[in-house]
This record gives sequence, C-alpha cells and structure tokens, in this order.
Amino acid sequence: MSELHKFIFDGLPVRGQLVRLTDAWQDLLRRRAANTQTGAYAPPVAELLGEMAAAAVLMQAGIKFDGALVMQIAGDGPVKVAVAEVQSDLRLRATASVTGPVAPGARLADMVNAHGKGRWAITLDARQRQKGQPPYQGVVPLADERGAHLQSLAAVIEHYMRQSEQLDSTLVLAADEQTAAGLLLQRLPAQGQRNLSQSHVEREGESDGDDYRRLSILARSLKREELLGLAPEAILHRLFWQEQLLRFAPLTGEAGPRFACPCSRERMAAMLKSLGRPEAESVLAEQGRIEVGCDFCGRQERFDAVDVASLFTPMTQPQPGSLQ
Ligand SMILES: [Zn+2]
Repeated sequence: MSELHKFIFDGLPVRGQLVRLTDAWQDLLRRRAANTQTGAYAPPVAELLGEMAAAAVLMQAGIKFDGALVMQIAGDGPVKVAVAEVQSDLRLRATASVTGPVAPGARLADMVNAHGKGRWAITLDARQRQKGQPPYQGVVPLADERGAHLQSLAAVIEHYMRQSEQLDSTLVLAADEQTAAGLLLQRLPAQGQRNLSQSHVEREGESDGDDYRRLSILARSLKREELLGLAPEAILHRLFWQEQLLRFAPLTGEAGPRFACPCSRERMAAMLKSLGRPEAESVLAEQGRIEVGCDFCGRQERFDAVDVASLFTPMTQPQPGSLQ
C-alpha cells in the first residue's frame, strides 16, 4: 500500500519524510497502458513521472496549504509536458504527453531539455483563492547557476528549494514500473527551531550545519534498489540507526497518498460548452460524435448530436439514453 512517513531528529534542526507509492503508482501506469490513444509510457518517461509524483507528495506534505500542488515540466524534447498534481489530502494524479521517440536509458536532459529550454514549475492553487488572485508559481530552468544542465529531477528540486525557500534540502528519488519513492531531508530555517527537547546536550558543541551535513550524507548513501525495494522501516533503520529518530504515525490508505482523478462527464460537457456551438457542431458534422478523453485517468466520454444539442439548449434535459 502507498504510504508517507514523517520524522524528525530529536534535538537537531532537521526533519524528514519518506514516501512510497505502490498501488497508487501501479494504478496510474495501468490506466495509461489501457489508453488506446497513447499506450504505455516508455520506461524512462515512467521513471521521470514517478519521481515527479513522489516529489510532489513530499512537497505537498511539507507545507501548510489547502489546495492543489502542481509540479510541471514544460519539456524541450520528446516529452512536451509532464504533470504531477497532489491535493492537501494526498490524492494524486499525473500524466505526460510524449510527442517523439524516447530511447531506452534516456536521461532527464534527453527527454525534456534537449535545447536548454526546458522548465520546471511548481504551482500552489489554493482552494479558497480569491477571485482575480493568481495562484503562487515558481519556475526554474533545468540548469544550475552556471547554466550546466542538471542531470536529475532531484537536483532540479533541491536547486529550487535552495533558491526560493532558502532551505537546504536533500532529496533522493527513484521510480520503476512497480514503485515510485522518495526521501527528503530539510534543514529547519532558523536557530531556535530545534526539534522538541534538547536531549543532545553532548552535541551542543557541534554546529547545526555539521548535523545536517552528516544526515544529508547518510541520506545520499541510499541506493536506488534500496529506496525501491526496502520497506520504509528498513530504509530508516539502514540510514539512521545511530540517530534519535522521532516518527509520526504513517499516512496510508484513505489518509495516505492515493490515485484519484476529479474529472467527470459534467466537467467535460462544460469544457465542450466553452468551445462554443459552431466549433462543437463542426466536429459533430465531421465525425458524427465528439470524443473527449482525460489524460490523467483515461476516462473517455462520447457526446452525440442529441447530447450536444442539449448542452446548448438550456431548457432541454440531458437524454439518459444517449450516453454511449
Ligand atoms: Zn480523469
């Protein structure tokens, strides 16, 4: 089952999270594979999208915010767009649109930064956003300060966190066809924000920076196979068995990360309506019906002439028999 674990290091200004998406991730991949218009993701694309989904859960769970966190890459290569969206209650969905061949073993830059124009963005779309107030958005190139292409999604996000939030972060991500997982450590911003009791009196002489660096090195020693293959307990023990780890109850099941897509036939109908009657009728005339699909969950809805007519005729009730 998919799960999220949060923990702190007693007496040290460092907090951590570990996410492991299994059923939620497999569900997402299965839906994509069943979509006859797209087919399954090539393995490198699935890996990128899985890492985005894991990272988006970690970022959403690390902030106090009510709304959707949307992580997006506007690609400059065969992957044009990749999106992972996580709600405050950890419902998640993700999709990528791929317009060209992706070679086996393709790396981040090959897929989304072929000409140096790829961008990574994060959007916080609050549920209670005031009308006219735009959502918060942060955008960074897929390169460091010197313009060198960053070779991993984790490096891009660490770079963003350091620049925008002034937070030292250590992020380890991995994904395959079964699991998408991530480990995040963050150094708490200010002095005086030590976790709970000052139980590490013997460490008082050691600076916070040394503590964070030590824990960061431990976190980075986690191998891909371990992050994907070991249970969270085993990972935390393997890395931090010498540390005083305080753990919160894991979030799993209906409280944890899970796949959900809020799309519906009604929303698709509203979108058709916004296209306008002439446009809708011209598609109808050409194809005899309008097919609308959701890229996130694979839902396909078909609107025939009667459905379309009822959309643009407010007094007419939708015809129940006209679905299909
Ligand atoms: Zn959907």
